[in-house]
Amino acid sequence: MANQEDAFKKVVSHAKEYGFIFPSSEIYDGLGAVYDYGQLGTELKNNIKQYWWKSMVQYHENIVGIDSAIFMHPKIWKASGHVDAFNDPLIDNKDSKKRYRADVLIEDHIAKIEEKINKEIEKAKKRFGEAFDEAQFRATNARVLENQAKIDEITNRFSECLNANDLEGLRQLIIDLEIACPISGTRNWTEVRQFNLMFATQMGSVSEGSDTIYLRPETAQGIFVNFLNVQKSGRMKIPFGIAQIGKAFRNEIVARQFIFRMREFEQMEMQFFVRPGTELEWFKHWKEERLRWHLALGIPAENYRYHDHEKLAHYANAATDIEFKFPFGFKELEGIHSRTNFDLTRHSEFSGKKLQYFDAELNENYTPYVIETSIGVDRTFLAVFSHALKDEVLEDGSTRTVLSLPAVLAPYKAAILPLVKKDGLPEKAREIMDMLKYDFMMQYDEKDAIGRRYRRQDAIGTPYCITVDNDTLTDNSVTIRERDTMKQERISIDNLRAYLHEHIQPIKVD
Ligand code: ATP
Repeated sequence: MANQEDAFKKVVSHAKEYGFIFPSSEIYDGLGAVYDYGQLGTELKNNIKQYWWKSMVQYHENIVGIDSAIFMHPKIWKASGHVDAFNDPLIDNKDSKKRYRADVLIEDHIAKIEEKINKEIEKAKKRFGEAFDEAQFRATNARVLENQAKIDEITNRFSECLNANDLEGLRQLIIDLEIACPISGTRNWTEVRQFNLMFATQMGSVSEGSDTIYLRPETAQGIFVNFLNVQKSGRMKIPFGIAQIGKAFRNEIVARQFIFRMREFEQMEMQFFVRPGTELEWFKHWKEERLRWHLALGIPAENYRYHDHEKLAHYANAATDIEFKFPFGFKELEGIHSRTNFDLTRHSEFSGKKLQYFDAELNENYTPYVIETSIGVDRTFLAVFSHALKDEVLEDGSTRTVLSLPAVLAPYKAAILPLVKKDGLPEKAREIMDMLKYDFMMQYDEKDAIGRRYRRQDAIGTPYCITVDNDTLTDNSVTIRERDTMKQERISIDNLRAYLHEHIQPIKVD
């Protein structure tokens, strides 16, 4: 645990030290769970968004993208169910005065029991080696069975309470499980209350006539209310999708874990409209597709897992999360939901406008069913960044910090480094920089010894360093050094552009 915490602290401090992420309003002591992206963070974040946008919109003929406003008609949030039901159950500890999500306290408790089971399995794996059969072990080991029974019992009570909106039941469960506040260590809890996560503000003058509007808590509704506009103006035929990247706002009760849970964050969502009755096939399709998208980044598969939902939202008939192994354990990175025709039907009811599709092949009008893929930009950032950050011990015993980002996501693709700051090398280096800067994001650096400059580029994830030395002036060649292997190669300046294009190709997933 201490190691996990240290690794996570290192991620947060590295992100700040190198200009990736700063706490918001830092000189005023910050603002809870709000962060600013710095000069390098913005590049990485833009590259993540571009990777998603290209693989969704550019590589799919039947998916188009929009950019709807953050402010929307207040009735939209009535129709979507957010005004009445976008709540989290909160509970306070009377001694520490700290506030918690009641559901998260229970989930964390379950995770601790799961952890015990995993430890037993790890131990047994070591003991039995090759011959180990995990399924059989789970089915027969007494300690595992006992813990699994505990989990099943808690999960049952937990979902009963959630389904029945039984807040007193949730509180009783916390008390029965003897869950203590991590700060005060006591079990002196208040009652559980519902808390709506939407931020409200006023539109128009502050006096009469102003209307309460909400900062959108998800980008999806901007897609649903534009369904007909896009379908008709784009002559879209079902099945088709509408994608959008944009800010969303949630007044999270417990905002911790850095950019994992923020009050202002960004989502990349795609709603895929299909014929009724085909939605479960499409759900399966997108579930697989989305995992392929993650794996194409080159992060090993063991860092991802599906978590199929047993308890479904009232509008869904299938749902799964893609979870990632963050420095603090497996947590949701992306949600894939089969939302039935709930949203379009509700917006039809509330707006009085018919939101249907005429299917010429079937000669029939219907309300399309929807598969949603919804992923957080910031959580993807955290996944990629935390996985990439490593301290490596080199052959000579020294250590280097390297950020092994996938090359297409790296803020700078190459750094141009004149070996010394004289003899015409800076001028030559600038010439190369000018030649490449229209194709690639480049950085020029002439300060300090070359070794230190390499380390600086390693720490910000630059995949290639191009060194200009005295020979360059006569042989028209440079040394190119690859970040992860640290291998160096001599290549002609004439081949540099092609070399970089070949090594930094867009990731293709469609
Ligand atoms: P969680 O259970 O972690 O609160 P959620 O199930 O409420 O997440 P969704 O409503 O499905 O999340 O949102 C889709 C995606 O948006 C999530 O998978 C996540 O990547 C991202 N997301 C949601 N809430 C936040 C947040 N507060 N900060 C950063 N990203 C978020």
